[in-house]
Amino acid sequence: MIIVKKYGGTSVETPEKILKIAEKISSSKDEGNEVVVVVSAMGKTTNYLIDLLHKVNPYPNPREYDMIVSTGEQISIALLASALSKLGKRAISLTGFQAGIDTDSTHARAKLKRVYRGKIRTLLDEGKIPVVAGFQGMSPSGEITTLGRGGSDTTAVALAYALDADVCEIYTDVDGVYAADPRYVENPKHIDKISYDEMIEMAAHGAKVLHLRSVELARRYKVPLVVKHAHRDGKETRIEGINSMEEPLVRALSIDENIVKVVVERVPDKPGIAAKIFEKMASNQLALDMIVQSMHKDGKNDVAFTVPSQDFQETMNVLDKIKAEVEAQNIHFDENIAKISIIGVNILGSSEIIYEMFSAIASVGANIDMISSSNSRISCLVPKNKIKEVAQAVAKKFDLVENAS
Ligand code: ASP
Ligand code: MG
Repeated sequence: MIIVKKYGGTSVETPEKILKIAEKISSSKDEGNEVVVVVSAMGKTTNYLIDLLHKVNPYPNPREYDMIVSTGEQISIALLASALSKLGKRAISLTGFQAGIDTDSTHARAKLKRVYRGKIRTLLDEGKIPVVAGFQGMSPSGEITTLGRGGSDTTAVALAYALDADVCEIYTDVDGVYAADPRYVENPKHIDKISYDEMIEMAAHGAKVLHLRSVELARRYKVPLVVKHAHRDGKETRIEGINSMEEPLVRALSIDENIVKVVVERVPDKPGIAAKIFEKMASNQLALDMIVQSMHKDGKNDVAFTVPSQDFQETMNVLDKIKAEVEAQNIHFDENIAKISIIGVNILGSSEIIYEMFSAIASVGANIDMISSSNSRISCLVPKNKIKEVAQAVAKKFDLVENAS
Protein backbone atom coordinates (compact mmCIF):
# COMPACT_ATOMS: atom_id res chain seq x y z
CA MET A 1 0.00 0.00 0.00
CA ILE A 2 1.01 3.61 -0.48
CA ILE A 3 0.22 5.48 2.73
CA VAL A 4 0.55 9.18 3.50
CA LYS A 5 0.77 9.73 7.25
CA LYS A 6 0.35 13.21 8.65
CA TYR A 7 1.36 14.03 12.20
CA GLY A 8 0.02 17.16 13.86
CA GLY A 9 1.79 19.53 16.23
CA THR A 10 0.84 17.81 19.49
CA SER A 11 2.02 14.42 18.24
CA VAL A 12 5.54 15.75 17.59
CA GLU A 13 5.67 18.06 20.61
CA THR A 14 8.77 16.53 22.22
CA PRO A 15 11.81 14.49 21.12
CA GLU A 16 10.34 11.52 22.99
CA LYS A 17 7.12 11.72 21.01
CA ILE A 18 9.06 12.06 17.77
CA LEU A 19 10.99 8.90 18.59
CA LYS A 20 7.78 7.02 19.33
CA ILE A 21 6.26 8.10 16.04
CA ALA A 22 9.42 7.10 14.23
CA GLU A 23 8.94 3.57 15.59
CA LYS A 24 5.39 3.41 14.30
CA ILE A 25 6.38 4.70 10.88
CA SER A 26 9.23 2.27 10.81
CA SER A 27 6.98 -0.72 11.50
CA SER A 28 4.51 0.40 8.85
CA LYS A 29 7.41 0.41 6.41
CA ASP A 30 8.51 -3.04 7.61
CA GLU A 31 5.05 -4.34 6.81
CA GLY A 32 5.84 -3.61 3.18
CA ASN A 33 4.10 -0.27 2.75
CA GLU A 34 5.43 2.71 0.87
CA VAL A 35 5.22 5.47 3.43
CA VAL A 36 5.30 9.24 2.96
CA VAL A 37 5.17 11.36 6.10
CA VAL A 38 3.92 14.93 6.47
CA VAL A 39 4.55 16.81 9.71
CA SER A 40 3.43 20.01 11.39
CA ALA A 41 5.55 22.24 13.58
CA MET A 42 6.25 20.94 17.11
CA GLY A 43 3.55 21.79 19.66
CA LYS A 44 2.84 25.50 19.74
CA THR A 45 5.87 26.49 17.67
CA THR A 46 3.84 28.26 14.98
CA ASN A 47 2.13 30.47 17.57
CA TYR A 48 5.49 31.22 19.12
CA LEU A 49 6.96 32.23 15.76
CA ILE A 50 4.02 34.51 14.98
CA ASP A 51 4.30 36.19 18.41
CA LEU A 52 8.00 36.66 17.89
CA LEU A 53 7.43 38.33 14.55
CA HIS A 54 4.72 40.58 15.97
CA LYS A 55 7.15 41.73 18.64
CA VAL A 56 9.35 43.32 16.02
CA ASN A 57 6.53 44.38 13.71
CA PRO A 58 2.79 44.10 14.41
CA TYR A 59 2.04 44.47 10.69
CA PRO A 60 4.67 42.31 9.05
CA ASN A 61 5.03 41.89 5.35
CA PRO A 62 3.25 38.63 4.44
CA ARG A 63 6.37 37.43 2.69
CA GLU A 64 8.34 37.69 5.94
CA TYR A 65 5.45 36.04 7.79
CA ASP A 66 5.74 33.01 5.54
CA MET A 67 9.51 33.07 5.78
CA ILE A 68 9.38 32.72 9.55
CA VAL A 69 6.35 30.47 10.12
CA SER A 70 7.51 27.93 7.57
CA THR A 71 10.60 27.24 9.70
CA GLY A 72 8.52 25.42 12.33
CA GLU A 73 7.85 22.52 10.00
CA GLN A 74 11.45 22.44 8.90
CA ILE A 75 12.55 21.65 12.44
CA SER A 76 10.07 18.77 12.68
CA ILE A 77 11.05 17.12 9.39
CA ALA A 78 14.76 17.11 10.18
CA LEU A 79 14.11 15.68 13.66
CA LEU A 80 11.77 12.99 12.43
CA ALA A 81 14.03 12.00 9.53
CA SER A 82 16.92 11.77 11.98
CA ALA A 83 14.88 9.68 14.40
CA LEU A 84 14.00 7.33 11.55
CA SER A 85 17.59 6.94 10.49
CA LYS A 86 18.54 6.09 14.06
CA LEU A 87 16.13 3.18 13.66
CA GLY A 88 18.01 2.11 10.54
CA LYS A 89 15.55 3.53 8.04
CA ARG A 90 16.56 5.58 5.04
CA ALA A 91 14.50 8.70 5.58
CA ILE A 92 14.91 12.07 3.93
CA SER A 93 13.41 15.40 4.93
CA LEU A 94 11.96 17.68 2.25
CA THR A 95 10.67 21.25 2.38
CA GLY A 96 7.46 22.00 0.49
CA PHE A 97 9.51 23.31 -2.39
CA GLN A 98 11.75 20.24 -2.48
CA ALA A 99 8.71 17.98 -2.41
CA GLY A 100 7.30 19.72 -5.50
CA ILE A 101 4.41 21.63 -3.93
CA ASP A 102 3.48 24.63 -6.06
CA THR A 103 1.10 27.31 -4.87
CA ASP A 104 -0.16 30.67 -6.04
CA SER A 105 1.50 33.76 -4.63
CA THR A 106 -0.99 34.74 -1.91
CA HIS A 107 1.25 34.74 1.13
CA ALA A 108 -0.15 33.38 4.41
CA ARG A 109 -3.09 31.68 2.70
CA ALA A 110 -1.71 30.34 -0.51
CA LYS A 111 -3.75 27.98 -2.65
CA LEU A 112 -2.22 24.82 -4.08
CA LYS A 113 -1.69 24.90 -7.81
CA ARG A 114 0.14 21.68 -8.52
CA VAL A 115 1.86 18.88 -6.70
CA TYR A 116 4.55 17.03 -8.62
CA ARG A 117 4.90 13.36 -7.82
CA GLY A 118 8.26 12.76 -9.50
CA LYS A 119 10.70 13.46 -6.72
CA ILE A 120 8.82 11.61 -4.00
CA ARG A 121 8.02 8.71 -6.31
CA THR A 122 11.74 8.30 -7.03
CA LEU A 123 12.58 8.35 -3.32
CA LEU A 124 9.94 5.69 -2.68
CA ASP A 125 11.34 3.56 -5.49
CA GLU A 126 14.72 3.79 -3.78
CA GLY A 127 13.13 2.41 -0.61
CA LYS A 128 13.30 5.70 1.26
CA ILE A 129 10.82 7.39 3.55
CA PRO A 130 10.22 11.00 2.45
CA VAL A 131 9.37 13.28 5.38
CA VAL A 132 7.68 16.39 4.01
CA ALA A 133 7.14 19.75 5.72
CA GLY A 134 3.41 20.41 5.88
CA PHE A 135 1.73 23.78 5.43
CA GLN A 136 4.27 25.23 2.98
CA GLY A 137 4.88 25.48 -0.72
CA MET A 138 6.50 27.65 -3.35
CA SER A 139 5.02 30.46 -5.40
CA PRO A 140 5.58 30.86 -9.16
CA SER A 141 8.34 33.38 -8.44
CA GLY A 142 10.12 30.99 -6.09
CA GLU A 143 8.98 32.48 -2.79
CA ILE A 144 8.13 30.38 0.25
CA THR A 145 4.37 30.40 0.88
CA THR A 146 2.15 28.90 3.58
CA LEU A 147 -1.36 27.52 3.22
CA GLY A 148 -3.05 29.15 6.23
CA ARG A 149 -3.21 27.90 9.81
CA GLY A 150 -3.80 24.17 10.04
CA GLY A 151 -2.64 23.74 6.44
CA SER A 152 -0.55 20.60 6.96
CA ASP A 153 -3.65 18.42 6.58
CA THR A 154 -4.09 19.93 3.14
CA THR A 155 -0.47 19.17 2.21
CA ALA A 156 -1.04 15.55 3.22
CA VAL A 157 -4.20 15.14 1.15
CA ALA A 158 -2.59 16.82 -1.87
CA LEU A 159 0.37 14.45 -1.70
CA ALA A 160 -1.92 11.45 -1.26
CA TYR A 161 -3.75 12.47 -4.41
CA ALA A 162 -0.56 13.14 -6.39
CA LEU A 163 0.89 9.75 -5.42
CA ASP A 164 -2.40 7.93 -5.87
CA ALA A 165 -2.06 6.71 -2.27
CA ASP A 166 -4.40 4.08 -0.86
CA VAL A 167 -5.09 6.16 2.21
CA CYS A 168 -4.21 9.44 3.88
CA GLU A 169 -3.93 8.95 7.63
CA ILE A 170 -4.21 12.03 9.83
CA TYR A 171 -2.67 11.44 13.25
CA THR A 172 -3.68 13.81 15.99
CA ASP A 173 -4.38 14.05 19.73
CA VAL A 174 -7.86 12.52 19.52
CA ASP A 175 -8.91 9.09 18.30
CA GLY A 176 -11.13 10.36 15.56
CA VAL A 177 -14.17 12.51 15.05
CA TYR A 178 -16.90 12.75 17.67
CA ALA A 179 -20.57 13.65 17.35
CA ALA A 180 -19.89 16.76 19.45
CA ASP A 181 -17.01 18.60 21.03
CA PRO A 182 -16.51 17.26 24.60
CA ARG A 183 -15.96 20.83 25.81
CA TYR A 184 -19.67 21.37 25.25
CA VAL A 185 -21.22 17.93 25.43
CA GLU A 186 -20.09 15.28 27.88
CA ASN A 187 -19.46 11.82 26.51
CA PRO A 188 -20.31 12.36 22.83
CA LYS A 189 -20.59 9.35 20.51
CA HIS A 190 -17.57 8.34 18.45
CA ILE A 191 -18.12 8.40 14.69
CA ASP A 192 -16.56 5.42 12.88
CA LYS A 193 -17.48 6.50 9.37
CA ILE A 194 -18.64 9.79 7.95
CA SER A 195 -19.12 11.18 4.46
CA TYR A 196 -16.97 13.93 2.96
CA ASP A 197 -20.01 16.21 2.81
CA GLU A 198 -20.79 15.83 6.48
CA MET A 199 -17.16 16.30 7.46
CA ILE A 200 -16.94 19.44 5.35
CA GLU A 201 -19.96 20.91 7.11
CA MET A 202 -18.43 20.03 10.48
CA ALA A 203 -15.06 21.56 9.63
CA ALA A 204 -16.67 24.67 8.16
CA HIS A 205 -18.84 25.25 11.21
CA GLY A 206 -16.57 24.87 14.17
CA ALA A 207 -15.09 21.36 14.37
CA LYS A 208 -11.33 21.64 14.60
CA VAL A 209 -10.16 18.08 13.88
CA LEU A 210 -9.43 18.68 10.21
CA HIS A 211 -8.52 21.66 8.06
CA LEU A 212 -11.58 22.45 5.93
CA ARG A 213 -9.59 22.69 2.71
CA SER A 214 -8.11 19.25 3.27
CA VAL A 215 -11.54 17.62 3.34
CA GLU A 216 -12.70 19.60 0.32
CA LEU A 217 -9.64 18.42 -1.56
CA ALA A 218 -10.16 14.84 -0.38
CA ARG A 219 -13.75 14.92 -1.61
CA ARG A 220 -12.82 16.37 -4.98
CA TYR A 221 -10.19 13.71 -5.62
CA LYS A 222 -11.81 10.90 -3.62
CA VAL A 223 -8.84 10.46 -1.30
CA PRO A 224 -9.83 8.14 1.57
CA LEU A 225 -9.07 9.89 4.86
CA VAL A 226 -8.62 8.31 8.27
CA VAL A 227 -8.29 10.25 11.54
CA LYS A 228 -6.39 8.43 14.30
CA HIS A 229 -4.70 9.05 17.62
CA ALA A 230 -0.95 9.47 17.16
CA HIS A 231 0.09 7.47 20.20
CA ARG A 232 -2.85 5.25 21.09
CA ASP A 233 -4.22 2.41 19.01
CA GLY A 234 -7.92 1.73 18.94
CA LYS A 235 -10.71 3.80 17.51
CA GLU A 236 -10.50 5.81 14.31
CA THR A 237 -12.79 7.67 11.93
CA ARG A 238 -12.93 7.00 8.19
CA ILE A 239 -14.05 9.80 5.93
CA GLU A 240 -15.16 8.65 2.51
CA GLY A 241 -17.79 9.05 -0.16
CA ILE A 242 -20.57 7.11 1.48
CA ASN A 243 -23.86 7.65 -0.24
CA SER A 244 -26.42 7.10 2.42
CA MET A 245 -29.71 5.71 1.14
CA GLU A 246 -31.15 5.75 4.60
CA GLU A 247 -33.47 8.11 6.37
CA PRO A 248 -31.92 11.49 7.08
CA LEU A 249 -30.07 11.27 10.36
CA VAL A 250 -28.35 13.89 12.48
CA ARG A 251 -24.76 12.64 12.76
CA ALA A 252 -23.10 15.42 14.68
CA LEU A 253 -23.33 18.92 16.03
CA SER A 254 -20.70 21.60 15.96
CA ILE A 255 -20.27 24.85 17.79
CA ASP A 256 -18.57 28.01 16.65
CA GLU A 257 -18.02 30.79 19.17
CA ASN A 258 -15.50 32.69 17.08
CA ILE A 259 -17.97 34.65 15.05
CA VAL A 260 -19.47 38.12 15.16
CA LYS A 261 -22.89 39.17 13.91
CA VAL A 262 -22.98 42.33 11.83
CA VAL A 263 -26.13 44.22 10.83
CA VAL A 264 -26.21 46.89 8.16
CA GLU A 265 -29.29 48.75 9.31
CA ARG A 266 -32.01 50.33 7.24
CA VAL A 267 -30.64 50.38 3.74
CA PRO A 268 -33.03 51.31 0.90
CA ASP A 269 -35.08 48.38 -0.41
CA LYS A 270 -34.00 48.63 -4.03
CA PRO A 271 -32.04 46.59 -6.58
CA GLY A 272 -28.26 46.62 -6.28
CA ILE A 273 -27.88 47.42 -2.59
CA ALA A 274 -27.01 43.90 -1.43
CA ALA A 275 -24.61 43.53 -4.35
CA LYS A 276 -22.88 46.75 -3.35
CA ILE A 277 -22.52 45.68 0.28
CA PHE A 278 -21.05 42.32 -0.62
CA GLU A 279 -18.90 43.43 -3.53
CA LYS A 280 -16.18 44.80 -1.27
CA MET A 281 -16.41 41.83 1.10
CA ALA A 282 -15.77 39.53 -1.83
CA SER A 283 -12.74 41.42 -3.04
CA ASN A 284 -11.31 41.22 0.49
CA GLN A 285 -12.12 37.48 0.62
CA LEU A 286 -14.06 37.76 3.87
CA ALA A 287 -15.76 34.55 4.95
CA LEU A 288 -19.41 35.47 5.35
CA ASP A 289 -22.16 33.23 6.62
CA MET A 290 -25.82 33.28 7.66
CA ILE A 291 -26.86 36.17 5.47
CA VAL A 292 -30.34 37.38 6.36
CA GLN A 293 -32.32 40.27 4.99
CA SER A 294 -35.34 41.48 6.88
CA MET A 295 -37.86 44.01 5.69
CA HIS A 296 -39.33 47.08 7.28
CA LYS A 297 -42.58 48.62 6.13
CA ASP A 298 -41.02 51.91 5.13
CA GLY A 299 -39.05 50.64 2.14
CA LYS A 300 -35.94 49.85 4.19
CA ASN A 301 -34.13 46.58 4.80
CA ASP A 302 -31.73 45.31 7.45
CA VAL A 303 -28.97 43.13 6.04
CA ALA A 304 -27.33 40.91 8.64
CA PHE A 305 -24.61 38.29 8.45
CA THR A 306 -21.86 36.70 10.50
CA VAL A 307 -18.11 36.82 9.99
CA PRO A 308 -15.30 34.88 11.69
CA SER A 309 -13.84 36.94 14.57
CA GLN A 310 -10.52 37.18 12.80
CA ASP A 311 -12.19 38.89 9.82
CA PHE A 312 -14.29 41.26 11.95
CA GLN A 313 -11.99 44.28 11.95
CA GLU A 314 -11.49 44.12 8.22
CA THR A 315 -15.24 43.78 7.69
CA MET A 316 -15.92 46.89 9.75
CA ASN A 317 -13.28 48.79 7.79
CA VAL A 318 -14.93 47.80 4.54
CA LEU A 319 -18.41 48.71 5.82
CA ASP A 320 -17.26 52.09 7.12
CA LYS A 321 -16.11 52.95 3.64
CA ILE A 322 -19.37 52.00 1.90
CA LYS A 323 -21.82 53.01 4.62
CA ALA A 324 -22.69 56.34 2.99
CA GLU A 325 -22.85 54.89 -0.50
CA VAL A 326 -25.44 52.25 0.46
CA GLU A 327 -27.28 54.81 2.60
CA ALA A 328 -27.11 52.64 5.71
CA GLN A 329 -28.45 54.27 8.84
CA ASN A 330 -26.18 52.40 11.16
CA ILE A 331 -23.79 49.43 11.40
CA HIS A 332 -24.49 47.30 14.42
CA PHE A 333 -22.48 44.33 15.68
CA ASP A 334 -22.84 41.69 18.37
CA GLU A 335 -20.05 39.50 19.71
CA ASN A 336 -22.13 37.73 22.34
CA ILE A 337 -23.41 35.07 20.02
CA ALA A 338 -22.47 31.52 19.13
CA LYS A 339 -23.50 29.21 16.36
CA ILE A 340 -24.77 25.69 16.81
CA SER A 341 -25.10 23.49 13.73
CA ILE A 342 -26.54 20.02 13.30
CA ILE A 343 -25.15 17.97 10.48
CA GLY A 344 -26.35 14.98 8.48
CA VAL A 345 -26.94 14.17 4.82
CA ASN A 346 -30.29 15.54 3.58
CA ILE A 347 -31.51 16.61 7.02
CA LEU A 348 -33.04 19.77 5.63
CA GLY A 349 -35.54 17.53 3.85
CA SER A 350 -36.98 16.47 7.19
CA SER A 351 -39.35 18.96 8.77
CA GLU A 352 -39.39 16.72 11.83
CA ILE A 353 -35.65 17.29 12.37
CA ILE A 354 -36.00 21.04 11.89
CA TYR A 355 -38.78 21.14 14.45
CA GLU A 356 -36.80 19.04 16.94
CA MET A 357 -33.78 21.32 16.62
CA PHE A 358 -35.81 24.43 17.37
CA SER A 359 -37.71 22.81 20.20
CA ALA A 360 -34.49 21.58 21.85
CA ILE A 361 -33.17 25.14 21.77
CA ALA A 362 -36.42 26.50 23.15
CA SER A 363 -36.39 23.91 25.95
CA VAL A 364 -33.49 25.70 27.64
CA GLY A 365 -35.04 29.12 27.13
CA ALA A 366 -32.56 30.26 24.48
CA ASN A 367 -33.66 32.71 21.83
CA ILE A 368 -32.75 31.93 18.23
CA ASP A 369 -31.24 34.97 16.58
CA MET A 370 -30.50 33.85 13.02
CA ILE A 371 -30.96 30.61 11.11
CA SER A 372 -29.19 29.27 8.05
CA SER A 373 -29.16 25.93 6.34
CA SER A 374 -27.74 23.79 3.59
CA ASN A 375 -28.87 20.41 2.41
CA SER A 376 -26.86 18.71 5.14
CA ARG A 377 -26.82 21.34 7.86
CA ILE A 378 -29.06 23.54 9.98
CA SER A 379 -27.39 26.31 11.99
CA CYS A 380 -28.82 28.66 14.60
CA LEU A 381 -27.28 31.66 16.31
CA VAL A 382 -27.96 31.71 20.03
CA PRO A 383 -26.67 33.84 22.91
CA LYS A 384 -23.10 32.89 23.82
CA ASN A 385 -23.88 32.45 27.51
CA LYS A 386 -26.47 29.77 26.66
CA ILE A 387 -24.38 27.76 24.22
CA LYS A 388 -23.46 24.93 26.59
CA GLU A 389 -27.03 24.33 27.67
CA VAL A 390 -28.20 24.49 24.08
CA ALA A 391 -25.51 22.05 22.93
CA GLN A 392 -26.47 19.56 25.61
CA ALA A 393 -30.18 19.77 24.85
CA VAL A 394 -29.62 19.36 21.12
CA ALA A 395 -27.18 16.48 21.63
CA LYS A 396 -29.69 14.67 23.81
CA LYS A 397 -32.52 15.23 21.40
CA PHE A 398 -30.61 13.69 18.48
CA ASP A 399 -29.03 10.88 20.48
CA LEU A 400 -25.45 12.09 20.03
CA VAL A 401 -24.42 11.11 23.55
CA GLU A 402 -23.01 7.71 24.49
CA ASN A 403 -25.46 5.89 26.72
CA ALA A 404 -23.98 5.08 30.10
CA SER A 405 -23.82 1.28 30.23
N1 ASP B 1 1.96 24.53 11.94
C1 ASP B 1 0.88 25.11 11.19
C2 ASP B 1 -0.14 25.71 12.17
O1 ASP B 1 0.03 25.62 13.37
C3 ASP B 1 0.26 24.17 10.25
C4 ASP B 1 -0.43 22.98 10.86
O2 ASP B 1 -0.27 22.68 12.04
O3 ASP B 1 -1.16 22.30 10.15
O4 ASP B 1 -1.09 26.29 11.74
MG1 MG C 1 -2.31 21.63 13.12
